[in-house]
Amino acid sequence: MQFSPSVSKLQESQTIAAAKKAKELKAAGKTVYEFTLGEPDFNTPDHICEAAIQAMRAGKTHYTPAGGTPELKKAICTAALRDYQLQIDPSQVIISNGAKHSIHNVLSVMCSPGDEVLIPTPYWVSYSALVELAGGIPIEIFTTEEQGFLPSVEQIAEKVTGRTRMVMLNSPCNPTGVVFPVALLKAIGQLAVEHDFYILSDEIYDKLIYPGAETACMMTLGSEIAERTILVNGVSKAYAMTGWRIGWTIGNPEMIKMIDKLQSQQTSNPCSISQAASVAALTGPQDCVAEMLKAFTARRAFVLDRLRAIPGCSFVEPGGAFYAFFKVSDYFDRPLQGGVKVSNSSDFCTALLEQGQVALVTGDAFGAPGYVRLSFATDMATLEAGLDRIAAFLAG
Ligand code: PMP
Ligand code: GLU
Repeated sequence: MQFSPSVSKLQESQTIAAAKKAKELKAAGKTVYEFTLGEPDFNTPDHICEAAIQAMRAGKTHYTPAGGTPELKKAICTAALRDYQLQIDPSQVIISNGAKHSIHNVLSVMCSPGDEVLIPTPYWVSYSALVELAGGIPIEIFTTEEQGFLPSVEQIAEKVTGRTRMVMLNSPCNPTGVVFPVALLKAIGQLAVEHDFYILSDEIYDKLIYPGAETACMMTLGSEIAERTILVNGVSKAYAMTGWRIGWTIGNPEMIKMIDKLQSQQTSNPCSISQAASVAALTGPQDCVAEMLKAFTARRAFVLDRLRAIPGCSFVEPGGAFYAFFKVSDYFDRPLQGGVKVSNSSDFCTALLEQGQVALVTGDAFGAPGYVRLSFATDMATLEAGLDRIAAFLAG
């Protein structure tokens, strides 16, 4: 059978593929310590579920406007004012089926064939795939652990050409958890203003920032930078709502109208019930977010302590999100548990799953060979057992 070239060359999302493999093994009765998917293990808070039930009972089970309900757009504006003192208008907002869909639609309406999109590494697995799907060319800006996995402005400036359409930023970052310092965000924003390109700022982990770390909402860094910013966010991570599929884009009203038009032909509205629940998430009590962050803070401390005790498994301390991204290349071409030898991160993950029953995601998926990602959005008992097994696997 013949398929379209753009989809034929697309790779399956490697985070989702790794989780699928772990779940298949579990379903076959095997024990697997699973740290693949970046999704909170908590249930969606009760008051949010309650709002969804009420919405269903009240008959909010019909189509909504393709770009989302006025109530949710208003709630997003209210939350932006509360959280960032950021004044935005509903005409600048569109709701999509999760932040991944938001990013896809932004790239689809903004990229012409051959446009270049700058992406600092390590980057979330779907960025480069979605750029290519939109006809753009992903241009990686390679960063190292030594530089804290942060690009310098000079590195970005070097890659700017007449075809540069935008830079994709993600602070806190998946997979590293690194937060971009405010001064760096400002400098990148100024570069965008000077060279007339856009900043797609994926702020999906903005509520998951650990004590002592500091970053900023890109739209708060002055009006010139705000005009060039396309902000993406959603309810998945902060409110443990990954399955509800609600994300949004904030940006120039003209661009929002283009996305609205696209959605009207492509998906129609995101789920009406999920939209009502998201209003409750954004405007209801926020202590659930603080409680989940507290649990993530304890898990983070535990995981980082255990990794520090393993020789060679170095990392940059994550200032946000719920991932530990650590180096395993010191263990390549050496006998590991069961005498197995590996020479890259993907084979490392396969061997660790087979020998140690631990599922991680390869750094190759994030443009960072030699590293692996562990999601600590899971319970402490699983983390304890999993880290014991990782240590034993590496000890050989
Ligand atoms: N951006 C980043 C950096 C992510 O890690 C994720 C993971 N889910 C998303 C966007 C998409 O989130 P969702 O589609 O669940 O809203
Ligand atoms: N974003 C999460 C992750 O990185 C969920 C899976 C996905 O959408 O890729 O694991």
